Amino acid sequence: MEKQQLLYKGKAKSVYATTDADLLVMEYRDDTSAFNGQKLEQLERKGRVNNTFNSFIMGKLAAAGIASHFVRQLGPTEALVKRLQMIPVECVVRNFAAGSLCKRLGIEEGLALTPPTYELFLKNDGLGDPMINESHALSFGWATQAQLDRMRELSMQVNAVLRELFVAGGMLLVDFKLEFGVHHGEILLGDEFSPDGCRLWDKETRKKLDKDRFRQGLGGVVEAYEEVGARLGIQFDGA
Ligand code: ADP
Ligand code: UDP
Repeated sequence: MEKQQLLYKGKAKSVYATTDADLLVMEYRDDTSAFNGQKLEQLERKGRVNNTFNSFIMGKLAAAGIASHFVRQLGPTEALVKRLQMIPVECVVRNFAAGSLCKRLGIEEGLALTPPTYELFLKNDGLGDPMINESHALSFGWATQAQLDRMRELSMQVNAVLRELFVAGGMLLVDFKLEFGVHHGEILLGDEFSPDGCRLWDKETRKKLDKDRFRQGLGGVVEAYEEVGARLGIQFDGA
């Protein structure tokens, strides 16, 4: 398997074809964006931290029986993944109110959500990733009912596994975003799970340890990601 041409350069990762039509290389870059790409910065070490973080999380999910596109980490900033036909829908699970939910519904940040909420957003930067529901996904052909059912089921399973993992490290998993795709007819978890796409707070102080540090200009962004990793026992080689 050899890395070939660049297929897609996203806001934080670049995706390459390989000599195996079924496999892709994902390169995690240091680029960091927020507010639909309006705030952009390079944060040293972020690519390697997120790649290693994601490998660890995908390993934990696999151990819990949740299948993903992840095959193996290739180096500090690269991972080998199965090529998916991506479903253009972002699935967001929330255990505590934060971010767009607070703005949309006038809810105070930090309210515990029981049961957790589950929301869908259309993956479309030009439209600012608008919130959608299952009926939109069906009518516009973005996903079938069976796929939507599976995405919801897998999202809830991921929440159950990762809430426990983070609590053991003294953290609250506030919310997170997942992307799914189809691989030989099966729905698999794709993209990444890192502090770029979730919210994590210290359990006692509620200090923010995720990308909100970047969004809100709090500083110490990659340092916070490394702290989260250290609390989970992740070794960031050469970081
Ligand atoms: P964005 O496109 O939102 O700027 P990234 O910079 O993270 O995001 O780019 C990664 C891109 O690769 C995303 O569009 C994501 O949907 C896509 N992707 C993730 N996993 C896979 C996969 N296994 N196969 C094909 N595409 C994938
Ligand atoms: N999220 C993401 N990518 C997006 C939108 C949201 O990774 O394009 C994550 C975000 O980091 C948070 C969760 O999804 O963990 C919920 O985000 P929210 O809807 O609150 O949007 P925000 O206000 O963060 O843009």
